[in-house]
Amino acid sequence: MDTMQKYVFAFEEGDGKNKKLLGGKGANLCEMTQIGLNVPPGFVITTEACLAYLDDPQRHLPPGLMDQVRDQMRLLEQKTGKGFGDPDNPLLVSVRSGSAISMPGMMDTILNLGLNSDTLQGVIQATGDPRFAYDSYRRFIQLFGKVALGVADTLFDEAFEAVKESAHAKQDVDLSADDLRQVCDRFLQIVEEQTGRPFPCDPYEQLEIAIKAVFNSWMGKRAVDYRKQFNITPDMANGTAVNVVTMVFGNRGNDSATGVGFTRNPATGENKLYGEYLVNAQGEDVVAGIRTPKPLDYLRVEMPELADQLEELRNKLEAHYREVQDFEFTIERGRLYCLQTRNGKMNTVALVRTSVEMEREGLITKEQALLRIPPESLEQMLFPRLDPNAKAEPVAQGLAASPGAASGIAVFDADRAEQLGKGQGLKVILVREETKPEDIHGFFASVGILTSRGGKTSHAAVVARGMGKPCVAGAEGISVDVERREARVGLTSFKEGDVITIDGTTGKVYLGEIPTVEPEFTPELNTLLGWADELSRLRVKANADTPDDARRARRYGAVGIGLARTERMFNAVDRLPIVIEMIVAETAEQRRAALDRLLPMQRQDFYELFEVMSPHPVTIRLLDPPIHEFLPDEHVLERELKELRALAQVAGGLGVLANAASLIHAPEGVRLEVERAHRMIDPAVVEEAIAKKAAMLKKVRALYETNPMLGHRGVRLGMTFPEIYQMQIRAILEAAAECAKAGIEVHPQIMVPQVCTVQELRKVKQYVADIHAEVQARYGKPVDFKFGTMIEVVRACMRADSLAEEAEFFSFGTNDLTQATFSFSREDAENKFLPLYNQSGLLQDNPFEVLDVKGVGKLMKLAVEWGRSVKPDLEVGICGEHGGHPRSIAFCHEVGLNYVSCSAPRVPVARLAAAHAALKAQATHNL
Ligand code: PEP
Ligand code: MG
Repeated sequence: MDTMQKYVFAFEEGDGKNKKLLGGKGANLCEMTQIGLNVPPGFVITTEACLAYLDDPQRHLPPGLMDQVRDQMRLLEQKTGKGFGDPDNPLLVSVRSGSAISMPGMMDTILNLGLNSDTLQGVIQATGDPRFAYDSYRRFIQLFGKVALGVADTLFDEAFEAVKESAHAKQDVDLSADDLRQVCDRFLQIVEEQTGRPFPCDPYEQLEIAIKAVFNSWMGKRAVDYRKQFNITPDMANGTAVNVVTMVFGNRGNDSATGVGFTRNPATGENKLYGEYLVNAQGEDVVAGIRTPKPLDYLRVEMPELADQLEELRNKLEAHYREVQDFEFTIERGRLYCLQTRNGKMNTVALVRTSVEMEREGLITKEQALLRIPPESLEQMLFPRLDPNAKAEPVAQGLAASPGAASGIAVFDADRAEQLGKGQGLKVILVREETKPEDIHGFFASVGILTSRGGKTSHAAVVARGMGKPCVAGAEGISVDVERREARVGLTSFKEGDVITIDGTTGKVYLGEIPTVEPEFTPELNTLLGWADELSRLRVKANADTPDDARRARRYGAVGIGLARTERMFNAVDRLPIVIEMIVAETAEQRRAALDRLLPMQRQDFYELFEVMSPHPVTIRLLDPPIHEFLPDEHVLERELKELRALAQVAGGLGVLANAASLIHAPEGVRLEVERAHRMIDPAVVEEAIAKKAAMLKKVRALYETNPMLGHRGVRLGMTFPEIYQMQIRAILEAAAECAKAGIEVHPQIMVPQVCTVQELRKVKQYVADIHAEVQARYGKPVDFKFGTMIEVVRACMRADSLAEEAEFFSFGTNDLTQATFSFSREDAENKFLPLYNQSGLLQDNPFEVLDVKGVGKLMKLAVEWGRSVKPDLEVGICGEHGGHPRSIAFCHEVGLNYVSCSAPRVPVARLAAAHAALKAQATHNL
């Protein structure tokens, strides 16, 4: 180990850009100090020191570290004129964690370090304020006890509440110095009882223990879970830095305060300082939600001069960082200090609005505006909101802490949320008085968060916003009883398992489930996606089968339909009987008769799609699934047949009885009854039903396949039942001709699924050519169309060059191509072995969600190259689910696809991802 390694940097000397070494918080403290903001003096211990410490099985701090710390402490003493451990004029510090990537609330902070019974007297003398001194001391003992010594927080909370009760104090600020002294004594006792040793008095010993505790917290459960959940890998953040900062006090009286601010509103993006503060309080009071803070607007009333200074601080921060900042500040006796800043976590609405506005203000470029928004997050803007027409009365009103609406069953602690939400797949809403960092697993498992205490910057609000989950905070009308797992609201109540609805956009809480409606695009989102389209090369189309889907896709900015699955049209209730007739037909005439009835329906389907999408292209895929999928289930048929046969026997029996009754001159009444019963079960009708069912069963058995997904489907149907494909081709071309007649611009694309050989493609192309010639002649107008193939069979990739001779476009069906490449059946894989493969690292991702670039991607790359070697202008796209996944979209860009096609709600995500792909490729190219 290199004893000369520099592990410690003063804020004046640390490189503000080196977040990996100094952590985000430390780097920013250095940078803020260096650009002249008023930061309390301090220093950073590097993440390298943390890693060296964690590497050592004995858990010793690396050699030389504490010497460097002592040197820095001496510098702090010089800067502040105070002494660390000096009973006359003590220097107190905070010890904070901070890794390269912000992990809010994940690791722990210790405040007021350096206090002991001697220095406490010094604080009393220096401030003349014993109440303040004892208040600081009890906070220190509790935090140090919890974080560094592992004493349960609840023991301190209970002791504190007990003193409060005996002093008849309603709020913390009502406690006197004497009460707080009692609290300190009790806390010291608790530590000794729990650890078997007295509380450490030596400030340097305290500092060393605290540094180790922060380092250890990097491997704590909360931090590890967080990294896992957000895929934070060691190359992104490895180890935590420790920031040692001179304490400044927001709890020195009514000219002191502490608060948190966002340079812009993180929920709406509005360009206005946003945040909260508490007078006469310390930092964690705001974040923990113990007292409900005041909005920053109010600072102008209470401390106008400081409101100006704060505004100035905000402007400096944004001008420097060119990003919305989330900062913490303290006012100590009228002087403003900035304690921390980091890029603000915002919901997507705010991200989009600030991107567009900051570009207009000249703070960032269009490219930066696009790149600061993760494409996946756009889905958040498409979350449903409460139906404004739903007549529901809220039962409580809290703060609109994180927008969106959610319904789910109420649960009252994080573990239950995990059990019911994650374990049983139920939609749960976590209801708490307030949340703490240790509740994080409950957040992951919930669809929304509701708290009865705390402000918009409370832990619950910040974390929920970061996760894009709806949150109502500080709904004070609700009183939560965790023990009884219920909450009272006015005269009513709800308990665990009851459904409630929260609206994080308005802060309202409802009992029961309230219907939701689809959201609208904001003008800013339209602007932003417009920029995305300008910069991207990939076009984004949609997979849509109905006019409604198509309309939605268009609203979301799709420039065409990349896949219309016609089988969904076959399944409609009015079609299915005709489709079945077609399948069970015994002769070509019978089949044609059924197809003749289907033709106008399909033509109408296509006409509507063309009309909605005009003038963009619409790609229609000829029938793909095996036709037996449209027939009834074999076992159901067998059972029905059995029942019918039993009925026939009854009918037969009744017939014999009726005859017998008339022959033996049974009484008139009996004879009539038997004859009536016989008539009610008409044997002829029953026989006919039996014949039909039996024929159907025979057909179902004849069409039975062991592996339908590898069986008689796709173009193979087109080979064996040409009439079906011919009907569809006719419907497409006639619909196009009808549109042209009506002045609607259309560009139909006919796509053949499951193609393996060029001969298959040629045969279908011949059907198209024949029908096209006939339709054009009949309509007397040219009908424009394109003919192409899906590439979803491995052989099709290998034969891409010859397929390109017949096809004008390729569309990768990566759902099937992935199954075919892995020889995995998706259903079986995802249900049985894939989770294990992913967990144990046998496979990094689920290849049905994230395109397997190395295998499937390689086939795609070859197919594109070979296809274009024959036809350089071959249009190539993708219509498997991967077409809506940002990482897969980046790959599609790389291999030169022309478009991606995905479901309508993914269209905005794909548009932004396509721009990101282009910008990143350009950046790599420019390197
Ligand atoms: C595919 O296989 O990727 C595809 C789009 O077709 P389907 O999902 O309908 O099989
Ligand atoms: Mg397919």
